[in-house]
Amino acid sequence: MSVAAPDACAVPDSPASDCPICPRLSAFRQANQEKFPSFHNAPVRSFGPLDARLLIVGLAPGLKGANQTGRPFTGDYAGDLLYATLKKYGFASGNYDKRPDDGLDLQDCRITNAVRCVPPENKPATQEIKECLTFLTSELTTLPNLKVLVALGGIAHGAALSALGLRKSHCKFAHQAVHELPNGLLLVDSYHCSRYNTNTGRLTEEMFEAVFKTVRSRIDAGG
Ligand code: SF4
Repeated sequence: MSVAAPDACAVPDSPASDCPICPRLSAFRQANQEKFPSFHNAPVRSFGPLDARLLIVGLAPGLKGANQTGRPFTGDYAGDLLYATLKKYGFASGNYDKRPDDGLDLQDCRITNAVRCVPPENKPATQEIKECLTFLTSELTTLPNLKVLVALGGIAHGAALSALGLRKSHCKFAHQAVHELPNGLLLVDSYHCSRYNTNTGRLTEEMFEAVFKTVRSRIDAGG
């Protein structure tokens, strides 16, 4: 299979701020709007330049992370580890201070989520993952220089494959695995950088850095 030829001028489709496609998530957003009126409480748009060679696919906004601040991985623990690691491997610069206006920049890197709205208990339903694929597909087909995808967790791995028109069984998720996809993209897997995974020891800082060391070397080598 192949992904449609990217248009260098195109901007990926993003959901409307009141996207109604997933009723449960839409209702959760509205409930959070009443509970936390200062929060973003809307689908979270991707972050990073459109000419990036690297796209990181997370799971979904955290309630008090991206759902609060409106920028992926910004405001909760997952962002502390992700942005420190991206800075270490030259994919980010500036100051990360858990705010969308903290001056942090991404270089050659863009970040999105498989599901754009915060799900209750961080658990999107299968149908919600399926519905939001339209926006992930748009990202994948309109980033003109895309070479490497990093999937943070098994759900992101499956969503990335589905968005590319591949079966989820095409390749199995495994931490630090590098999958060469039929369209020439590389899919690199990592356990999600959540506090739960680091607290339980499933993911250490060293394990996470090893993923981005691989990504850096593959991108420097031309993918
Ligand atoms: S998860 Fe995606 S498809 Fe569902 S309501 Fe949010 S933006 Fe729309």
